[in-house]
This record gives sequence, structure tokens and C-alpha cells, in this order.
Amino acid sequence: GYFNFTNKVAIVTGGGGGIGRAASLKIAAGGAKVVIVDLQEESGMNVVNEINEDGGEAIFIKTDVTKEEDVKNYVHVTIDRYSKIDILLNNAGWLGEVVPIVDYPVDVFDRVMDINVRGVFLGMKYVLPHMMTQKSGAIVNTASAAGLLGTPNLVAYGASKHAVLGMTKSAGVEAAPHGVRVNAICPGGVDTSMLDSVVFGYSKGNAEEAELKRMAIKASSPDGRYADPEEIANLMLYLVSDLSSHIVGQHIVIDGG
Ligand code: NAD
Repeated sequence: GYFNFTNKVAIVTGGGGGIGRAASLKIAAGGAKVVIVDLQEESGMNVVNEINEDGGEAIFIKTDVTKEEDVKNYVHVTIDRYSKIDILLNNAGWLGEVVPIVDYPVDVFDRVMDINVRGVFLGMKYVLPHMMTQKSGAIVNTASAAGLLGTPNLVAYGASKHAVLGMTKSAGVEAAPHGVRVNAICPGGVDTSMLDSVVFGYSKGNAEEAELKRMAIKASSPDGRYADPEEIANLMLYLVSDLSSHIVGQHIVIDGG
């Protein structure tokens, strides 16, 4: 691997999902102890088992990132066990529904904002004090290209990812004087179950429409394809490694051009 995370402690929210899994495996292979935080116990435990079978160290903490008590708990358990937090990949997210604003269910809007905005805020709120006391640490918030562009039929998702960039800018300038870096990434289409939800949402299950949507998403990248989750993980690892030691409060677009 390119990165050395020996003796580091990393928390990955949404660690059971496509991007979270790829990042967790890589960061563990680099030597970090990895705390997998996810609402889905089965997928989270699968990643923990993969890491432990490879000779790494990982634990799972079942968490709903929208719940303040749950977030306090994952921070508490991590500190209790490993005494510090070097890395937070604030990555759990939900797409919501794919429908026009006029049809967008209010409860779905609220849930998307709760997971993608409140969850990211709570993660920073409870992890930053530990990093600031240590005078070291790095956080990467997973935003999206949808945090920069207009995305039809994804009003809550788009708004939530714009908000992630706003929070990243505030946190970046607040934390830097304490030796802590906060940045964000903006992936385009990444080959995960979330992208399947995007395709399904636009095609409403029609196979031909789904294929057209897949082609359209790929064509929107000049390199003509989805990202592999590992490519996103590589950028996350760069942003939490010392190689990016002067990058603060930024977002980096990773979408094939
Ligand atoms: P995914 O659906 O595979 O993973 C998301 C993970 O978040 C899942 O494991 C899910 O259980 C977890 N999660 C959802 N709600 C949660 C909650 N309340 N508490 C704890 N965990 C919760 O999708 P992914 O593509 O790996 O998504 C990871 C991140 O990347 C998300 O923030 C997503 O918005 C972002 N993203 C994805 C794409 C893409 O095309 N796949 C593009 C840009 C950004």
C-alpha cells in the first residue's frame, strides 16, 4: 500500500457500505485500527470480519448517526478502547427518493437531512474535541458532485450535500488552529448500492430505462465510467494522511473529469 497508518485509530461511518468498506479495508491494510460504524449490523460485521481475517484490527459499533446518544456512544467506545481518534471518515449517507420537489415526501426530506447533515455534524461535534486535545487528526466528510451541481429529482440529497460542504468549510477553519484538518470529497457516480438506487429511482424498475440511465451517468464523465469504490477510498486515504498536511477546508471532486 501507499499509506502507513500504523498505530492510528480510524472511525468510518457507513463503514458497511460500498465506499466505507473499500476505505476501511485500505486503512486497516495500512495498519490502522478501524471502528466500523453503521446502522446495518450484517454488512458492518462482514467488513470487520474481512479485516480481522486479513490480520488487521476492527470492531463494529451499531449506530444511527442521526441519534446524538448513538454518536456519543461510538466516540465513547472508541476512546475507551483505543484512547484516541486520529481519523474520522464521516461517510454514512442516504439518497432518499428520486422524485420531483412537488411530489417529494416531507418525511423523506427530513430523514435525508438528518442522516447526511445532522449525522455529519454530530460526528464532527463529538470527535473534534478529542482531536483538538491531541493537537492532531483528520476528518473527511463525504459530500457528492450533487453538493456542487443541480440534480433533478434529488432535492433533499442535493441540499444535504451542499450543506456538507458548508459544514466542512466552517470546521476546516475552526479546527486548523488546533492541528486538525477537515476536508470533503465530491464523488460522481460510484459503483455501489447507492448508485443502483439512483438508477432504480429514475427508471422506476424499467430495465430499458435503467440501462439508458446507467449509460447517461457513465457518459457524464469524460472517462466514460463509474468510479470503483477503491478509487474514492484512495482519495480519502490521501486526505487523512500526512501527504495532504496543508490541505484544509477543501472539497476535492473525483468524477472522471
Ligand atoms: P452505500 O449505500 O453502499 O453506503 C451507505 C452506508 O451508510 C450504508 O452502509 C448504510 O447502512 C449507512 N447508513 C445509512 N444511514 C445510516 C444511519 N442513519 N446511521 C448509520 N449508518 C447509516 O452507499 P455508498 O455509495 O457507499 O455511500 C457512501 C457515501 O458516499 C454516502 O455519503 C453517499 O452519499 C456518498 N456518495 C455516493 C456516491 C455514489 O455514486 N455511490 C456518489 C457521491 C457520494
